[in-house]
Amino acid sequence: MQWETVIGLEIHAQLATKSKIFSGASTAFGAEPNTQACNVDLGLPGVLPVLNRNVVKMAVKFGAAIDAELGRRSVFARKNYFYPDLPKGYQISQFELPIVGKGHVEIVLEDDETKTVGVTRAHLEEDAGKSLHEDFHGMTGIDLNRAGTPLLEIVSEPDMRSAKEAVAYARKIHQVVQYLGICDGNMQEGSFRVDANVSVRPMGQEAFGTRAELKNINSFRFLERAINFEVERQIDVVESGGEVVQETRLYDANKDETRSMRSKEEANDYRYFPDPDLLPVELDDQFIESVASDMPELPDAKRHRFSSEYGLSAYDSEVLTSSRALADYFEAAAKVGGDAKVAANWVMGELSGALNKEGLDITQSPVSAEQLGGMLQRIADNAISGKIAKQVFEAMWAGEGSADEVIEAKGLKQITDSGAIEKIVDDVIAANPDQVENYRSAEEKKRGKMLGFFVGQVMKASQGKANPQQVNKLLRRILHLRGRGRRHQRW
Ligand code: ADP
Ligand code: MG
Repeated sequence: MQWETVIGLEIHAQLATKSKIFSGASTAFGAEPNTQACNVDLGLPGVLPVLNRNVVKMAVKFGAAIDAELGRRSVFARKNYFYPDLPKGYQISQFELPIVGKGHVEIVLEDDETKTVGVTRAHLEEDAGKSLHEDFHGMTGIDLNRAGTPLLEIVSEPDMRSAKEAVAYARKIHQVVQYLGICDGNMQEGSFRVDANVSVRPMGQEAFGTRAELKNINSFRFLERAINFEVERQIDVVESGGEVVQETRLYDANKDETRSMRSKEEANDYRYFPDPDLLPVELDDQFIESVASDMPELPDAKRHRFSSEYGLSAYDSEVLTSSRALADYFEAAAKVGGDAKVAANWVMGELSGALNKEGLDITQSPVSAEQLGGMLQRIADNAISGKIAKQVFEAMWAGEGSADEVIEAKGLKQITDSGAIEKIVDDVIAANPDQVENYRSAEEKKRGKMLGFFVGQVMKASQGKANPQQVNKLLRRILHLRGRGRRHQRW
């Protein structure tokens, strides 16, 4: 039987505010346990939550970016459940009236096709604390620093049909929240968490199958693997006569498998009701307009502009706008360097390669955009060749200064003086009489390849500094001229 996969994602984006959603405590990552939880986060009796205005602004920005209906009136609700990391006994979330309603994003698939994925809603909520199972002599510790951290839960429609599509959608949301500056996107630290709802159905059937929700996925690579594993598992279950049960399953990256964690609660088990401590949030036109006027350029707009303004291919524009930081870096380097296409090649080639090798992010690049641009200027004005530029780049990477400083210190300036190049060419020709003879007696179409030998020798003799175009031209002229001269003599 042919099976079709159906996937919907729930993404929790931690909003990049300095303080929590309902209290003034800090949200900074990595502090000593329980040093960033105030009375409100601890849920002490008699305290009152106060909504952080910035959180609302960020949610509205997100709504605008995905072309969503905004909830002009949204309501905070209590989601009641017991868990040691939730001292109040309920989580403040939004249920019936979320702040962001239906929207959509476009994803680009491998074959360059695009697909629209629906966003059902995005609502605000507070995070819970964390249970710490390590180092407590068999006991569990509770850290409430994370309690009250603002989250935007972004729920997609079950529109995706493969693990690849799910990854493309998750990446798109990741890109959007980072561009907006509302989430740092760090998956390892848990600021961007993706839960995948996965089901299978016989190809052609309209009704959805029963889904399992996969948690504990902390990279895009694991997202793809977890879904693929789960799809295989569900097909096996159904094909061997069993039934998929609705449950939450944990992805184990070490074993590359999912396993059952708990059966899934229904919404009515949570006894949601409007939080009487918080007023409904009413968005007025003025607030929405002020947020809309403060929107940065979004990924799709930037991608199109890169293609038209810099003449870059669709692929190059896509790669260079994959993150705002990379796009900014490229634009700064191109501005200093002058030639956008050359800048694009260096950023996507040498620079990205070096960053990958060291596991660095563009923001951690040892070579600044200005430094790279400075080097591109020297290529443009022929002070160095593209080949020597690689040496210059390596030296800049190693912290040896700007391109000009490196060129000066290492004596890498290109030789463009034709007299000096001619001298080297003459030496090479004199030192290789056999090759010269071969070249001159060869047919024209074989000469191109043979010329490479001479170019190589000249470049070697000049330690790579001779201008390659000039070397080529001179070699051709000298070899050809004298070649013709000799043939003439024979006649
Ligand atoms: P819950 O409230 O139990 O989390 P929702 O209706 O909010 O359930 O759906 C959660 C997510 O699961 C959404 O992203 C939705 O698209 C997805 N989803 C719902 N049904 C299915 C299904 N049969 N297969 C795959 N994904 C599904
Ligand atoms: Mg849900």
